[in-house]
Amino acid sequence: MTSNAEIDLASSYVRELLAVPEDRWVKADLRKSKIRLDGSITELISFALLDAKNCWNTLKHLGRGANPQLELDRIGVTVVDAQSGLLDEHFIHFAVFVPGSRTVEQSKNAVERVKKFIFNYQLLDIVGQVDVEAVVLWHEYYHARKSECFNKNKGLPRRTMRRNQTRIQEEIGAVQFSRLAAGINYNPQIFQWMLVYTVSPMRAVKWMNDIVEKDVTR
Ligand SMILES: [Zn+2]
Repeated sequence: MTSNAEIDLASSYVRELLAVPEDRWVKADLRKSKIRLDGSITELISFALLDAKNCWNTLKHLGRGANPQLELDRIGVTVVDAQSGLLDEHFIHFAVFVPGSRTVEQSKNAVERVKKFIFNYQLLDIVGQVDVEAVVLWHEYYHARKSECFNKNKGLPRRTMRRNQTRIQEEIGAVQFSRLAAGINYNPQIFQWMLVYTVSPMRAVKWMNDIVEKDVTR
């Protein structure tokens, strides 16, 4: 059983996270991975968002925006069940796209944990009716599509800074694409945050403080 105090606490965290501007998530990611950018964050986000929008509008125009599993099939990507990654320096994963084997290794268990978290902590009225698995699969679908583009352009840029930047831009694009595809008006990284919370609330709170840029003295 989850106590009322626990429910109140977790939902106050989720509300706080959903209220922060989107660029805070990106800034926190950049700080964590210690990556410096060529240009501005705003520019990076707007490029990524534009690409995600184009990609989504094309798909929707073709009447193919309903089922991520079907779309992955169509581009020859197989979804396999995999153990969720370890809680490493950064975060644990729901899924990862493996370009070599054209598979999405997805942890059904991780998805289930978050669905249970939303239910047990009574967060449904905050996040709304949302298909968490679809969010995860659309995210990976975007990565799969991007990997096709990179193959055509003979791989990623050679310079490390450019390469990092391309990767980050793709990551932001994937987040935004899944947001558009799932029809939600908040940053879907909240589900990643919930996943971390199910494993280590302490780590999730630390990450939250970093995102909301709260100055905590330890
Ligand atoms: Zn990703």
